[in-house]
Order: sequence, then C-alpha cells, then structure tokens
Amino acid sequence: MKRIGQAVSPGLAKAPAHIVRAVSWSLPKQAVANVDSELEKIDEAIMLTTNELQKIKNKTSSTSNQHDTDIIQVHLAIARDPEVRKRVRQRIEQESCDAAYAYYVEMEAVLESFAKHDDTYIGERKSDILDVRDRMLSHLHVPIAPVAKLDRDVILVGDDLMPSRFLQYDLQHVKGIVTRKGGMISHTVILARASGIPMLVGVEGLENVKQGQIVILDGLNGCVMFDPDPDEQADYAGQLADYTELITTLVEESPSAPATKPIQANIHGSDNIDGVRRYGADGIGLFRTEMIYMKATAIPSEDEQYDIYKAVLAQVDGPIVVRTLDIGADKQLPYLSRSSELRGIAHSLAHPELLKPQLGALLRASGEGDLRMLLPMVRSTTEIRRFKAILARLVTSKTMTIPLGIMVETVDALKNIDSLAREVDFLSIGTNDLKAELSAAGRAQGGSWYDPTLLAAVNRIIQTGHRHGIEVTLCGEMAADPMLAPVLFGLDLDVWSVRPQAIPLIRRELRKMDYDNCRKTALECLKTNSEEKLRSVLERHWKGVQS
Ligand code: PEP
Ligand code: MG
Repeated sequence: MKRIGQAVSPGLAKAPAHIVRAVSWSLPKQAVANVDSELEKIDEAIMLTTNELQKIKNKTSSTSNQHDTDIIQVHLAIARDPEVRKRVRQRIEQESCDAAYAYYVEMEAVLESFAKHDDTYIGERKSDILDVRDRMLSHLHVPIAPVAKLDRDVILVGDDLMPSRFLQYDLQHVKGIVTRKGGMISHTVILARASGIPMLVGVEGLENVKQGQIVILDGLNGCVMFDPDPDEQADYAGQLADYTELITTLVEESPSAPATKPIQANIHGSDNIDGVRRYGADGIGLFRTEMIYMKATAIPSEDEQYDIYKAVLAQVDGPIVVRTLDIGADKQLPYLSRSSELRGIAHSLAHPELLKPQLGALLRASGEGDLRMLLPMVRSTTEIRRFKAILARLVTSKTMTIPLGIMVETVDALKNIDSLAREVDFLSIGTNDLKAELSAAGRAQGGSWYDPTLLAAVNRIIQTGHRHGIEVTLCGEMAADPMLAPVLFGLDLDVWSVRPQAIPLIRRELRKMDYDNCRKTALECLKTNSEEKLRSVLERHWKGVQS
C-alpha cells in the first residue's frame, strides 16, 4: 500500500511501524466542596509538569542537540505561564469546580485565541500548547501512559506526534516519522530535521496501519509504502545506497569547493557551531537569539550576551548576522511582568529593558569581527527609525558601527519595501513567515514553496534591494530546497542562509549553475499562476540540465 505525503525532513528509512496513539480527554465539570484543595492541585500539577520537563531538558541537553533543549524551554514557559494559572484559579473559585475541568477550559480558550490568528507560526505552536496541556491533565486527571520503550528500530506512525512525546522516545531507534497532521515548521518537524530523522506529514489512511507492519519511508520523494513487495524493497535498497554515497561525497567535498554565491548557516543560540564549521558555511546568515532569552531566568545581561556573541565571532569565519529578539505572541518570557501580543521588533521597542542589553552587547562585540544586526517582523519605517534612535543613544565610540538589516517577512514590509530598503544596509527574506502572511491557509497547511505569489514577492524584494544597492539574503526554509536553487540564482539572490545540514547540497547545485539558463527558467516561473505550472517549468529545467 503506497501513500503520498509531504516530505518535511529529508532521508530514507525502512523499519517496522510503531503506532503512536493520540490522547483524548472527556472532562465533565465536577462540583467540589473543597475549593482550596483544587487550588493546591493546580500548583502541584504545575510543579510536577515542570519537574518532568526539566528532566527531559537535562536528558536532551546531555545527549541531544540544541533544538530539543530549546523546545522544552518553550514548554516550560507555557507550563509556568502566570496568566493561565491566575485564570484557572479564578475559575475554580468562582465556579467551585474541579481543577482538571478549570484547566482544560482555560487551555481551550488559549487554543481558540490562537485559532483566530491567520499567522501560521502561531498555528504551529498549538501543538506545543496541547503537549503541555496533556502533561498537566495527566497530573490533574488520569495519568497518560508513558511512551513505549523501544527495543528495536521503528518508524513512528500516527495522527500527530507532540514534540515532548517525540523527545521521550529513544531517538536512536526512531528511523522515521509518518503523521497525518503537522506542517513544515511545527516543532516536531524542526526537531526531526535537526535530529536527521526523515519525516512525512499529510499522509491519509494511517488508521489502517498495524503495529509491526514493514514501512518504507521515502522522505526525498514524499511517499511511504506499507508492506512493500519484493520489487519495492529492492528499489529502496538501491536508492538508499545512492543516497548514502551522495551525502558522504557532498560533506567531504563541501568545504574545499566554493560555490558561486555565499551559503551561510541559520543557528538557534550558540551551541551548534561545530555543524556550521563541518558543513563549511560562509558565515552565519541568521543567528536566532530567542533561546538566549528563553533559557534564562531573568533578562540576560549585556555582559552575558557579549560573551556569547564574542565566542561565536571567534569560532566562525565570515559575517555573523545576529537577529534581535523575535519574541511575543505565543513565546512569552516568564520573567516579564506583562505578556504581549506584539512580536519581533515591535515587541523589542515596547520592551527597552530587553532590547538595550542586547544592543549594548552587540555594539561591544562589533569590534571583535564582522557582526551585523537584523530586525525581525518589521512592518514600517517608523519602527526602524525608533530602533536607530535607541541604538544611537547607546553608541559610545566611533568604532561601534554595525551594518543594519531587516527581515522581510510581513505583508506590510512587502508593501513598504521601497521605503524600508532606503533605511538599511541589507535585506533578508523570511519566507517562513512571509508565506504564512501571504496565504490564508497559513504556515501549517501551506505545504509548498512552489508558490507563484511567494516567488513574485521574493523577486520584488531582490529587485528593490538591488535598486538601492544593497545585498539580499534568503534565510527562510525555501532557501534549503535544492530544486529552487536555479530559480533563486536566476532571480539574482545574493546570499543563501540555511540550516547547516542543508549546505552541502545547495553548494553542489550552486557550483554548477549556468546563469543564462537559470535566468530563463526564473522568468518563466514568474509567469506561472499555479503550483502545478511552476513545478512543470522546474521539471523541464531539471530534465534539460540532466540531458
Ligand atoms: C522566516 O520567517 O522565514 C524566518 C527565517 O524566521 P523564523 O523561522 O525564525 O520565524
Ligand atoms: Mg520569521
């Protein structure tokens, strides 16, 4: 039985299916006589949940990668959210109801407020909230069975897979993941990619899959086979051998053979610099700083941040583009007294107590190497000017100069692109958020970068940047798709910034590009008006290149 899905983490795998069961709740309201004991139960559940998450975090920080630890940090922030605790307590007091019901209802309200946002980033964060909710309810109501201990290699198959459940599995034995739900940037997908585990989402008919049934997951072509026949098994073996050889060759050749355009790395925090070096990145094009703030228990001081930025500059050659804090909406800092609906630069401008230590640290570190600053979720020139005014007040010497760029990832930024480009030294296209803002379907559902509207936006941003004489980088996931490399090359993109593991393949593609041919393909792609037509232009291009 063959099924089609969306490959969100590349690779190939063959192993027996391990079925992941969804958790479901039925929580009728219970009237209680002892309100105080229900209030205590909430605090106890928060403590138990926090302890559990802390244990997972300790385990992942010693055995796994940075992404895993970062995501558990987000879960800790959700579990400790003071606003939710306050509202749950109020409900218990006002309605004399049980703690499990009160918590469930409040979390439903949180989820509903998320559902109102078209922003798919927020949509994707729903699974994190559900994950924490289930953990809390398992302490307030009935315990959820822990994930099964794996004693052999498996492919996880299920309707959905929550990030913290995923991290509880022994990942050495998880060879692949197949789910019905999930989008390109859900946390489980980000974790799977960072752990090198192939994953397919959007696969229907999984309810018929049996425990132990053999599965072949093709995370290169977006399909999965259950109970494959001998021919399919032989095809798989051949494909696996080719793929393994390709990856080995790519990694070995990557640092020594430069590409025609710089390929930089995207990192979260400063812990995976080894990967940046191993895959031969030409600097860091996107240094996300959220986790520096989220891992801390109080606002990280200028000195602490200075040490981090300085250490990265010492370890990596080439420019380091540090993005100021992209926090807000669902990502709140537990140590801030008020939560905020603002995100990105708007949030930083509303919270100078967060922004100033970061800017102070960046200004000081700017003397140590090629450091650049990038502002997230920019919408207007007013924001840039307000930011520059704060920056100017912090500059204490003439040597403190940092090139300033903006992420172009909102529809407002796209509309105002001409006036925004006039204000800055470079542009960086954030296709993850931009696609979400451009499509009503949002980031979770909008599964493909082969989108003519998005491509037209990318083209417009590149052209505008060049008209103003500034460089344009693409640092969203779209840049990591090798199939699109000729189009972006033909549109004159200056810099690619991708997760480190994606560098070798993009480098190989960019090394063999013929500009005239790519330009022709890019212009043809711009004339298309549907995903199918865009794909068919690309297919023709690739067939032409191979023949
Ligand atoms: C983007 O939106 O494309 C981007 C790179 O930013 P993030 O994924 O961190 O929101
Ligand atoms: Mg973004």
